[in-house]
Amino acid sequence: MAQAQALYALQEIDLKIIAQNKRLETLTQQLQDNQSVLEAQQQVEAAQKRLTPLHTKQKDLELEIQTNRQKAKASEDRLYSGNVKNPKEMQDLQQEIASLKQRNQTLEDQLLDLMLTIEAAEADLQTAERHLAAVTAQWQAEHTDLLSEKAAIETELEQLAAQREKAVTQISAQNRKIYDTMKKKKANRPVSLMQGRMCTACGVEQTMAIEQAVSHNADLVYCENCGRILVK
Ligand SMILES: [Zn+2]
Repeated sequence: MAQAQALYALQEIDLKIIAQNKRLETLTQQLQDNQSVLEAQQQVEAAQKRLTPLHTKQKDLELEIQTNRQKAKASEDRLYSGNVKNPKEMQDLQQEIASLKQRNQTLEDQLLDLMLTIEAAEADLQTAERHLAAVTAQWQAEHTDLLSEKAAIETELEQLAAQREKAVTQISAQNRKIYDTMKKKKANRPVSLMQGRMCTACGVEQTMAIEQAVSHNADLVYCENCGRILVK
């Protein structure tokens, strides 16, 4: 393939890559707009956060009640073992048992209140989780088209990258450098197709000599007006 044609082929690939990357950027921005899902996630996290200290408190209460029960049981066992003969000790044991039972009464009331609070907090969490699931499903349904378009573009960009790699091998190192430098200056279009004798990029008619030189494909020929590489 002549160099001008090879450069034109590369430009076509590059223009596609640029266009697809632009579309991908737009899609990514649109897909980032998931405020409702983020808010629903935050609500779930907040509900979980409210539950954590309640569960800790519940465990503490249950542990203390359990410990008090064991202590009272041990004292009762001792009291009714028949081994305690001293009336003062018997009285102390009875008092200890009574005070442990009273303390547990208070703790059990607290535990009951706490269980009601936990139940309400768990219901809140379930509501938040259901809301999150619904909002997520809705978001996905609304964005199905965008998600599949994004996947398709990503695949196409991979294919274009492979095509580009191959196209570049057809071009000399020197011409590649020319292309890269001109690409920046000529808005990604350093190569221009000729229509008859006209450069289609700037619309200016070229001389007969230029047209013939382009036809001969000998070397790179530039538009007299815009300076782009001409190709037929
Ligand atoms: Zn031109």
